[in-house]
Amino acid sequence: MDKTQLTKPLHIAIDGPVAAGKGTIAKRLAQELGFLYVDTGAMYRCSAVIALENNLSMEEEERIAGATDEADIEMYDRRNLETGEITTVVELNGADVTERIRLREIDRLVPKVAAMAKVRAVLVKKQQKIAVGKDVIMEGRDISSVVLPNADLKIFLTADVEERTRRRLLQYRERGNGMISYEEVKAELESRDEMDLNRKSDPLRQVTGAWLLDTTNIGIEEAAQMIAVKLKSMLK
Ligand code: C5P
Repeated sequence: MDKTQLTKPLHIAIDGPVAAGKGTIAKRLAQELGFLYVDTGAMYRCSAVIALENNLSMEEEERIAGATDEADIEMYDRRNLETGEITTVVELNGADVTERIRLREIDRLVPKVAAMAKVRAVLVKKQQKIAVGKDVIMEGRDISSVVLPNADLKIFLTADVEERTRRRLLQYRERGNGMISYEEVKAELESRDEMDLNRKSDPLRQVTGAWLLDTTNIGIEEAAQMIAVKLKSMLK
């Protein structure tokens, strides 16, 4: 019999504010341990793209949620054969939106779409379905509190705002957006955090029992190592 049918799958939930290092850490751990990596932020970003493409206003919650429900959102890893770098490709209804969902216009729109209770209900259901029967590392804002409340390990990953701004600025520059200033990035990051923390539906919060990991001084590499040690001891 397949061994995977005999063991309970392991669910790891990572939540935290913008640019705390959730994606980098979750992706690395998933590769190391052979878990499925799920970037739930990418799914909310797809919903924002759906609203834009269908010219839906932020008043049309029902239609945005409906179109999100019908949408086919696929995520898979693609390895660059020269550099070895792995990118998580995101496809929305068959179109590659990997780069589009990271544009600043989407950064600005996504917290508004993510504040809609009906959109959240649709995406939470899709996320829970993905996790059934699989070892997953899922990252977002409400994974420990709503999506996987029974997760085997819950992590609240954070870093101070200056450090997170530096990391996000670097990501923008790597993507060729050299025009944006530190102050602009910081203001946008703070505004998105503010919306994610204060919305009525499933706001970002650290749940009781979550492991608080502040990466300001230790950096992303060391944080990933610390989590890997913990996970390996859980897998024994
Ligand atoms: O993780 P990322 O920054 O890509 O997420 C984009 C946005 O999606 C967040 O700022 C938040 O508004 C929303 N989000 C959410 N719940 C999640 C994941 C992301 O509300 N689980």
